[in-house]
Amino acid sequence: MAYRKWRADALFTGSGLLNQDQVLITEKEHVEAIVNLQDAGPDIEFLPGLICPGFVNCHCHIELSHMRGLIPERTGLVDFLITVISRRRAKPEFILEMAAAAEQEMYRNGIVAVGDICNNLDSFPIKAKSKMIFHHFIETMGIMPQIAEERYQASVKIRETVISEGFSPAERVSIVPHAPYSVSRDLFEKIALDPDNHLLSIHNQEDAEENRFFLHGDGEFQRLYRVLGIEPSNFNPTGKRSLESYMPYFRSEQHMLLVHNVDTRKEDLEKNKREKLYFCLCPNANLHISGRLPDIPLLMEEGVRLVVGTDSLASNQQLSILEELKTLQAYYPQIETSLLLGWACLNGSKALGMEELTGSFEKGKKPGVLHINNLRDGKFSRESSVKRLV
Ligand SMILES: [Zn+2]
Repeated sequence: MAYRKWRADALFTGSGLLNQDQVLITEKEHVEAIVNLQDAGPDIEFLPGLICPGFVNCHCHIELSHMRGLIPERTGLVDFLITVISRRRAKPEFILEMAAAAEQEMYRNGIVAVGDICNNLDSFPIKAKSKMIFHHFIETMGIMPQIAEERYQASVKIRETVISEGFSPAERVSIVPHAPYSVSRDLFEKIALDPDNHLLSIHNQEDAEENRFFLHGDGEFQRLYRVLGIEPSNFNPTGKRSLESYMPYFRSEQHMLLVHNVDTRKEDLEKNKREKLYFCLCPNANLHISGRLPDIPLLMEEGVRLVVGTDSLASNQQLSILEELKTLQAYYPQIETSLLLGWACLNGSKALGMEELTGSFEKGKKPGVLHINNLRDGKFSRESSVKRLV
């Protein structure tokens, strides 16, 4: 058998850090074992830095990759959305070419699994051929209740095509709400009651204006709907903050990925505790769109499960989980490297229901093997980069 043996200054297993006296053994793409150096035999490759399992990108929109560099920074969420909506059209060949480049970029950057948001079938020919594992979130939206059935059925049709064309197994496709402010109660209910929707994702509390819209029905989101030619009175404010307003629609057994959480507060976390809730951080996209990060110390204190995403190239300069971790540690140097890696590896795998395959160096898994260099005192530096070994 063609075993390979790896050693580094530090070995992150998926849940903890081991020192250079431990050796990772792989057989092709599979993990064979982690053993003591004295038991590992000859031909061990030593790498300065850190070895860890492949990264899980819990939030991306590959189909928006052609928008790289198009959207100005720090305009706030509403102007960002208006620009994305007005500029997302492009020639199909260009969309496909940029999606293919984005897929390659993620693979090179050590990503092994992706939760990908899609509004159409554009990116599926690329994703279906990928070596990465995808969960496809077919996104739907519409605040007018009278179009809920039509919008839901359009997403059902996309899901059926994805499965019948062999783009993805059925268990890796769900129909999901875009965001609390863009989905009517009727549409939320259809999504929540869909028996195939075991895993859901939603852009949550990305901006303080979202909570304002739910509490009072006014503010920037009124402007968004006027610009889009939709009468904002179709939206009924609940008088509650957004998370509390929509969470009761969902079944407790449904896994939910809440993405962004920039304006998530302690009261939101206390009022909406659930077993299968994951909070996805996309710090570089948050900085691009509004210049503001979530209250990460609060999320950590409250003990929620954290995962990491890149969001799309419309709001990010690259699709790299390492760059997201570097940003998180630059803003919050107190967060240990092993904790960040745990969010990006095993937590991400669990969130996407892929922990049988990825996220940690357990025998039989195919988690990918990454080498990260240029750490300083165990922390990422600006120069840290990632190379894929397996
Ligand atoms: Zn997004």
